[in-house]
Amino acid sequence: MAELGPRVDVHVHPSRYSRHGAAFAEKNRIEYTPSGLLGEMDAAGIGWGVFLCPRLAPTLEAGLENVSEVASASGGRLLPTGTVDPTRGEAEVAHAVDLWSRNRPRLRGIKLYPGYLPFDVTDPRLEPVYRWAERERVPVWVHQGDTADPDGLIRFARPIFLDEVAVRWRSVRFVLCHVGNPWMEEAAEVTYKNANVYTDTSGLLNPFAEHYNLQIRRMRTRLHHAILAVGDVGKVLYGSDWPISSIVDAVGLVESLDLSRPDKERILGDNARELLGLPGSGSG
Ligand SMILES: [Zn+2]
Repeated sequence: MAELGPRVDVHVHPSRYSRHGAAFAEKNRIEYTPSGLLGEMDAAGIGWGVFLCPRLAPTLEAGLENVSEVASASGGRLLPTGTVDPTRGEAEVAHAVDLWSRNRPRLRGIKLYPGYLPFDVTDPRLEPVYRWAERERVPVWVHQGDTADPDGLIRFARPIFLDEVAVRWRSVRFVLCHVGNPWMEEAAEVTYKNANVYTDTSGLLNPFAEHYNLQIRRMRTRLHHAILAVGDVGKVLYGSDWPISSIVDAVGLVESLDLSRPDKERILGDNARELLGLPGSGSG
């Protein structure tokens, strides 16, 4: 196998269970299959992607089966994660933690979907999830800000809630997704303040927006300001939210920032390899 590129996309959804994925894929003119994703990754020097477990799978088992299948078909390049909906109750959370603990597959993270689902991250029903992530030393990705689904309730997805969780669970590392867009200042503050909070640049471009090119320019400025407010490029992780953004567009956003080449490469891969213990990092 050719040598893998050093970059990492910390936020991809090559899921079989998606409400809007096909529409985004069509708009972005991309092939909405795991192999289509791997092709785009190869073209951009991206060795690994974090496959965030679909929340729309009919059962916990089906979601894990989907990530597991894709992860092994990708030769380990698409890293599996789990998810759970705490509004389904404590038994559901306990069941999820039990499945995750069986290590089939070994999960590299957990994804939570507040906003898409009506809970916030301080919900006490999530305690077993944080305890598990602490024990297994895997990061927790948290959806933040706008939802691709108009039925989402975005007040649950305010970055400020994550501050309290980050303080209470200091040894758990959190990925605050989408720089909390549109609450990017709030997200930057929570990331700046807490050593255990990172933020990802995924899903910041909306291919359905009118004046898409102007929107990209506006987002470049907003993202640059947010990174300055975070005050540490080492806490910013490149992600695409594929198929919501194509890899080319999402990498292009990072490439267009007014930062040095080494800083861009930290965002595009070095930071995530370190976070995930992937080859090429100090701990990998
Ligand atoms: Zn996403």
